[in-house]
Amino acid sequence: MAKKTSNQRTCSFCGRTEAEAMMFFSGVGGSCICDACVEQAHGILEERLHSAKGAGKGFAGVNRIPSPSEIKEHLDQYVIGQEDAKRALSVAVYNHYKRIKYSDEHHNADEVEIEKSNIIIVGETGTGKTLLARTIAKVLDVPFCIADATTLTEAGYVGDDVENVLVRLLQAADYNVAAAERGIVFIDEIDKIARKSDNPSITRDVSGEGVQQAMLKLLEGAVVNVPPQGGRKHPEQPMIQVNTRNILFIAGGAFDGIERSIALRLKSNVIGYTGTETRRELDRHNMLKYILPMDLKHFGLIPELVGRFPMLTHLQPLDAAALHRILTEPRNALVKQYQALFKMDDVELTFAPEALDAVVNTAVEYKLGARGLRSIMEGIMTDYMFTLPQMAKGSTLCITGEMATEKIRQSNINNSLLN
Ligand code: ADP
Repeated sequence: MAKKTSNQRTCSFCGRTEAEAMMFFSGVGGSCICDACVEQAHGILEERLHSAKGAGKGFAGVNRIPSPSEIKEHLDQYVIGQEDAKRALSVAVYNHYKRIKYSDEHHNADEVEIEKSNIIIVGETGTGKTLLARTIAKVLDVPFCIADATTLTEAGYVGDDVENVLVRLLQAADYNVAAAERGIVFIDEIDKIARKSDNPSITRDVSGEGVQQAMLKLLEGAVVNVPPQGGRKHPEQPMIQVNTRNILFIAGGAFDGIERSIALRLKSNVIGYTGTETRRELDRHNMLKYILPMDLKHFGLIPELVGRFPMLTHLQPLDAAALHRILTEPRNALVKQYQALFKMDDVELTFAPEALDAVVNTAVEYKLGARGLRSIMEGIMTDYMFTLPQMAKGSTLCITGEMATEKIRQSNINNSLLN
């Protein structure tokens, strides 16, 4: 710093002389501030405001928490069917954020400690697990990220350390740690890290059990060192500390073949307790609704991991009627999306019921589920969208059953989707 002479002004904050600064601002009583200090103060202010906003953001902050029925109502707008799962999730999420709010307001150590209600959703692929988790995060307006359990490995192996799950959450929160600490993480394909023994039906990652062990720390609530850019941890790398205590983890998995062990368990119970009457009442097409934590253990999740997901819920397979509703009913249903696209070019788009039947039947026939609906619709609509700008403004395009069937045939959906 340059030596100060008696008549030189200095910054009241950092002591820089006027000659050293680019700009000087004078205050009352001869005080001054230099451009660098203004800039630094601005940065600090931004950061504080941002994190205060993040922590109190949406429902998850100190503001109002939506009731379970409000949460479910919101889910109903986006997710078709899956009533059991929607109710279970609404209650779990309500309790979770109520617990956070309560512990923010009361710091009395003697009070009942309410445990976190992480959730496992079991259901076939494409039945809405991710959609449910994503929609919940949207209702609550909290950071949300999806982590694929199959890419995770225990420390020291090739792959992602489990901490990288939190990197994605931090990114989703624009690196606002306070907001990330109240976010939701969806762990997809949790069934793929099941232990090898105990489950004869599928092959999976040999380090599965190690990953499960590594995950325990994240789930139970701990301060975890997260490398800001992800990747492997290096000793010299600066770390961001994230407390996972109030992060809600929702795990999803198909658990292929678990129905068999549920059926076996039920069979022995039914015979043992109540005889054949009850056995006939079982819903053979939806064994998942009888799932219990012990079935997950039997599948190969370690008991400690199962214990950290106190809520267990299931999704039902989607039948043709459900697929039909998915096409047309949700707020962002595919049919509505195409209609909006056409409306932008001032063309009204309608679908004959037979056209929608053709889409649904193709999805059912090729077992493509809800995820396949989009590809089928794209197959039908691409040519029409290609010529859309040339269509007369104010005209109407009705996709008939024949048009849909023909386009499905031409687009080779059967081949491309099955490969
Ligand atoms: P999962 O995570 O169970 O494999 P997704 O939630 O990713 O399945 O679902 C795939 C897509 O299928 C979603 O983006 C959504 O468009 C549609 N979908 C699946 N299930 C439903 C449902 N119950 N209601 C509405 N859309 C659904």
